[in-house]
Amino acid sequence: MIKIRQLSKVFHNKTVLDQINLDIREGEVVSIIGPSGAGKSTLLRCLNLLEVPSSGEISVNAKQVEYKTNSRGRLTFLSQMKLTWLRSEVSMVFQQFNLWPNKTVLQNVIEGPCTVKKVPRQEAEAKAKKLLAKVGLLEKIHEYPANLSGGQQQRVAIARALAMEPKVILFDEPTSALDPELVHEVLDIMVKLAGEGMTMVVVTHEMNFARNVSDRVLFMEDGKITKSGKPEEVFCTT
Ligand code: ADP
Ligand code: ADP
Repeated sequence: MIKIRQLSKVFHNKTVLDQINLDIREGEVVSIIGPSGAGKSTLLRCLNLLEVPSSGEISVNAKQVEYKTNSRGRLTFLSQMKLTWLRSEVSMVFQQFNLWPNKTVLQNVIEGPCTVKKVPRQEAEAKAKKLLAKVGLLEKIHEYPANLSGGQQQRVAIARALAMEPKVILFDEPTSALDPELVHEVLDIMVKLAGEGMTMVVVTHEMNFARNVSDRVLFMEDGKITKSGKPEEVFCTT
């Protein structure tokens, strides 16, 4: 599903990702753990070109991700077109939810399908309502994000990611910004998705999730994956 070869990212002479090789299979749930600053978030962000890698290859579903840049390091037009494809294949859920504050819950969820995938509005709304029901928020569809709890906002963000019908969803510390009593609301949805066979890559400090839900755990340090294996293998040595 995702193939990463020799992926590196250098920020101002600092190597943040150091020749990463990684394969993620369809239906696999991979948790990435490790200390702050290890490069976990940068690795996820490179997978959908929120960060442009310095070198290396990424392919998604056997298609190479092109990230040609101009002299200022900006993606070129050619890459921008591929970017639209990539962002619909590889959706992301952020620590800080990143919902559009001036759009309602429903508008947040249909925006991607309507503008990027050109899905007719009625069809997108019907789909969005199903997804919002799935995350338990059907009664909130006309609310604005500011009127929702953090747990509710993150569930909207998950519905928004799912609305793109992605091949894989990346989660960047999805529960770290939540009050402790709301964490389970989001984890429950993630466990459900994992059970349905969604391919997921999750940067997390939730060790119970990493241990009990993931198929594989990666431990990152200093821009490298220093341990990789089944949860029981990785946790017995750390
Ligand atoms: P983690 O997610 O493991 O905490 P990050 O990927 O966020 O690690 O960051 C890895 C390193 O890269 C850190 O030293 C961070 O300061 C640096 N970094 C991340 N983003 C940028 C950026 N846009 N510009 C410069 N340095 C960055
Ligand atoms: P997080 O803890 O969620 O990884 P950070 O505080 O590390 O967030 O980074 C917040 C934002 O700032 C990110 O977009 C990251 O890419 C950027 N960033 C992080 N470190 C640096 C840095 N040293 N220089 C410039 N930008 C950075």
